Amino acid sequence: MKKYTVADSINLALADGINPLAFIHNNKIVNENGSPIEFADHQFLLRPYADMTPEQVVMKPSQIGWSVCGINKSLWLAKYMKANIIYTMPSRTATKDFVSPKVDPIIMQNPVYQSWMGKTDSSALKAVGERFIYFRGSWEESAAISISADVLINDEVDRSNQKVLETYRTRLDASRRERPDLGFVWQWSNPSIPGYGVDENWQLSDQKHWFIRCPHCNFEWYLKFPENIDFEKQEYICTKCRKVLDREARRNGRWVVKNSKASISGYWISQLMMPWIPASEIIAKSKKDQSIFYNFTLGLPYISADQNIGRQTITRCIAPNLNPKTGVVMGVDNGVKKTVVIGNVHGIFKIYETESWEEIEEDFQRYGASMVIDANPYPNIPRKLAAKYPGRVFIHYFVQEQKSMQVILWGSGDKSEIVESDRTKIIDLIVSEFTNQEITFNMTLKELEDKSYIYDWSQLYRTVETNAQGIQKSVWRTIQDRRDHFAFATIYWRIALELLYAQGGVIRTPQKKQNSFYKKGVMVSPENTVPSVNLKNIAEKTMHKRKSWKTH
Ligand SMILES: [Zn+2]
Repeated sequence: MKKYTVADSINLALADGINPLAFIHNNKIVNENGSPIEFADHQFLLRPYADMTPEQVVMKPSQIGWSVCGINKSLWLAKYMKANIIYTMPSRTATKDFVSPKVDPIIMQNPVYQSWMGKTDSSALKAVGERFIYFRGSWEESAAISISADVLINDEVDRSNQKVLETYRTRLDASRRERPDLGFVWQWSNPSIPGYGVDENWQLSDQKHWFIRCPHCNFEWYLKFPENIDFEKQEYICTKCRKVLDREARRNGRWVVKNSKASISGYWISQLMMPWIPASEIIAKSKKDQSIFYNFTLGLPYISADQNIGRQTITRCIAPNLNPKTGVVMGVDNGVKKTVVIGNVHGIFKIYETESWEEIEEDFQRYGASMVIDANPYPNIPRKLAAKYPGRVFIHYFVQEQKSMQVILWGSGDKSEIVESDRTKIIDLIVSEFTNQEITFNMTLKELEDKSYIYDWSQLYRTVETNAQGIQKSVWRTIQDRRDHFAFATIYWRIALELLYAQGGVIRTPQKKQNSFYKKGVMVSPENTVPSVNLKNIAEKTMHKRKSWKTH
């Protein structure tokens, strides 16, 4: 590459090839709306734009102009560093939704980019100069092994398939031999839960924080929620002197490395750093769904007691009383190995895994039980059992969020053996029941641990995803490649319990604390449904605390 000297400073065109920042400036690059890329309000983007560290990670909120930075840097790398680039998004659809409304308009609006483009110009592949940018979804394993590149960019890491992202990484090996100056891996994403995806990589990085200086007391620090917000005045305030930090004070800052030993360049960006976002907006957002607030406003991973069933939550639900084993219901998670949870209104008293449907049917008969079985992936035997025991065995399907507030829907007519549930709402319901100790285990901790019951639940977490219409919604996910069978068997068991209540088939003893969910009136008749829990209330009960970082 050319050496840049002071003598060259009059020749701006030379600087184009040195750094994307100089290129953006010299060529007056505009964004997808035709507006100039400006850094007055986006000073925090200057260093990331210029950063050519081989490994980078950015943990960020939404709406900060990051994708424009990513697109500009990709185009620059292809042209000036002669790099083939793989740019991944979570899915093929997400790729299209990124290229058509973002990448294509940026190319269209900037004549210099247009002049670089080759014949190949689709939403999946673009020729830039002599090189290519491949836009790929993270769920296409075959796409991952068929191309090789010099630079790998993973956008929306936390919503992507981590296994396939690893496969993409191996595609850089050949490049590293031929082009030791490249082999870059750059990742950015809204975070989800602690220790996963972008947060996992951020922890390994140099962890740059954006420091601003207080004009009143000269104290230099980074902005945090809720410490730097005055909720009454609705203003940003200084960590030390508590005086108001105006827009100008928040505009000027610098990146400070926390972990200088790390070779990965990491940035944490939050909306508190955006000078144009007033404190009132942050306060308003903080009162809504906490996952959305932390992940998309603060750019931080988040998990609360209501978003994950940990060991402690389950331990608190253990009440090793004698169970009368009447009014028994069973939940079965389908698979080569079937996972079974058995219990009644008094609690769950038996759990196991088996390959034998006969064993399950024997228990079903022994307890005179009712049973809900997951339909997939092997629906044949469940169907036969449902036909053999009408009104007692049901096949279950999860449905996507419906407009109505329904959680569980029992089939009728020729679908009378079917029960459907809204995935997010039913898991929300059960998690809140666990948290409030409304579900009990008449079993020992050792048994729950030995059989992987506690482990299975702890692999489930609640996160926020954006659908094709751009609407954010909460979903429960399992950490990739981890088992969750007992969690789902419990969900089917809980649905089966509902059926029993609805039919009035249970003798209701005066209720102890653990059965108070019964009194809340969530149980209704088979044709009707169950109202969902008020998650906003639950979210407001928990206050997230992140470990403080004291370097001074
Ligand atoms: Zn101050």
